[in-house]
Amino acid sequence: MIDEMAAIRLGVFITILALMMGLELLFPARTLAKTPQTATMATRWFGNFGLLVIASVMARLILPLGLAGFALYTTQQQWGVLHYISLPHWANIAISLLLLDLLIYWQHRLFHRIPLLWRLHKVHHADRLVDSTTALRFHPFEIIASLGIKALAIMLLGISAEAVILFEILLNGFAIFNHANIRLPKPLEKVARYVIVTQALHRIHHSQIMAESNTNFGFSIIWWDRLFGTYTSDASKTDNQIDIGLTDYPNAKQNAWLSGLLWMPFTTKK
Ligand SMILES: [Zn+2]
Repeated sequence: MIDEMAAIRLGVFITILALMMGLELLFPARTLAKTPQTATMATRWFGNFGLLVIASVMARLILPLGLAGFALYTTQQQWGVLHYISLPHWANIAISLLLLDLLIYWQHRLFHRIPLLWRLHKVHHADRLVDSTTALRFHPFEIIASLGIKALAIMLLGISAEAVILFEILLNGFAIFNHANIRLPKPLEKVARYVIVTQALHRIHHSQIMAESNTNFGFSIIWWDRLFGTYTSDASKTDNQIDIGLTDYPNAKQNAWLSGLLWMPFTTKK
């Protein structure tokens, strides 16, 4: 079952990435001319995809069967709260997805708040552009830290392998969707932002202004930000004009090289 689900996960990932990259090409929300010191796209993509490959290999080495394999084991052992609450199957899955999404929201806030974790997460934020490949740009150590946090939650909450895989598919899909350099049609955007994190909302999270980037932490549903008071509907600049990235890392070229990205957490800059 795990192999099949992993294949579906990969298929959904490639499909959404290809779809979003196609839409970015045809209907870009922000054009390259508006981005200062542009690195070549090839360099940027090599860096962002490179991080994904390295992180995936490291994650495989640490947890060969992935989080779903881990969940199968914890289920066998009957570990975690949800094994002791009898719920209809659909309710168990729905609650599991909500709990995991809430966890990721708080994990994201933690990565912004704690200096040591920010050193890792800033690799994601130093990108001077936000497009669907930014969704792949996480330092391998951040991916591993996140893996540990999720594994702990799976064990304590008693999340099933099915829910874990579903969540991973949704989280990956939403991350690519909300980083895409596109803009939803206005009427749709207006309604969508009551439920999901839209591209315009997530670009505010990538603003160079800290008061703006410390908001809109959600990756899929926007409810946690609205509930915990971290929701921002508009940045000080228009969606077209928001300065993306980190003021400490203004050089788009340096921020694109794979070696620089891997080394970034260990440099002296904040
Ligand atoms: Zn962030």
